[in-house]
Amino acid sequence: MADRDGVIWSDGKIIPWRNATTHVLTHTLHYGLGVFEGLRAYQTPRGPAIFRLREHTDRLFNSAHIFMMKIPYDRATLMQAQCDMVRHNRLESCYIRPIVFYGSEAMGISAKTLSVHVAIAAWPWGAYLGTEGLVNGIRVKTSSFSRHHVNVNMCRAKSVTTYANSILAHQEVANDGYDEALLLDVDGYVAEGAGENIFIIKRGKLYTPDMTSCLEGITRASIIEFAGEIGIPVIEKRITRDEVYCADEAFFTGTAAEITPIRELDNRRIGEGKCGPITARLQAMFFDCVSGKDGNHADWLTYV
Ligand code: PMP
Repeated sequence: MADRDGVIWSDGKIIPWRNATTHVLTHTLHYGLGVFEGLRAYQTPRGPAIFRLREHTDRLFNSAHIFMMKIPYDRATLMQAQCDMVRHNRLESCYIRPIVFYGSEAMGISAKTLSVHVAIAAWPWGAYLGTEGLVNGIRVKTSSFSRHHVNVNMCRAKSVTTYANSILAHQEVANDGYDEALLLDVDGYVAEGAGENIFIIKRGKLYTPDMTSCLEGITRASIIEFAGEIGIPVIEKRITRDEVYCADEAFFTGTAAEITPIRELDNRRIGEGKCGPITARLQAMFFDCVSGKDGNHADWLTYV
């Protein structure tokens, strides 16, 4: 990733991609405290547009607030900078990664005296769980690693530190040939995927875990709105893994994963073992929206 052309926004300056480096004693590298976002821009008839830029930027600021990191820029500056990275890199559709991290002024866990840095990169990134997975569904396995307890990590924050747990879970199941991991919370209820929220469908109703140990996904919120618009009831509640086994349909949501059907969990086929009709409908609504074909949610798109 480091050796390519293009530019990166780094502490207010637009610098060549290859020069966007940081010192090895950056505090975040040692102690794992940093916050970040993941957004996508999609190609539309009016040029590239970032999906839900405001909401992602708000979440970045909330994540920083939770960890008491003071971002030295305001929201408007960072929103503009994210647009600039799509434009300056001449990208039609891409993934955007803002990250907030500590400087290298001191070691030890106190972060009081540290500077806070912001970088924003953007690059083309196809279907995160594969194009085949997006169409036909993926095979998921429940990980033996639990999602963070709400008092161990701060689950509302999209923080660097969360992802060691995600990597452990994903590694474990990918080594056994599965596409993605499902994590349960410490009480054994379904939390989320390694980098996705989960929904199941049973008898025409949509169910998703309530907001305890999963990230407050922006794609999740969008799907809840789409479902409401087409009269599908949405219930947020505790879900057990055997409810997923017996669901009619299931899918993951996420900026990277978009709407990815789940065709199997723990070697049990879900429903017909393919993308179900309600998943397909919500997936179509999502792609229509992000590509500017749905006039109902024009305010979710920021043209760069
Ligand atoms: N959960 C986790 C752990 C994630 O990393 C992500 C991706 N940001 C999500 C859920 C989905 O969130 P969003 O739809 O906002 O991308």
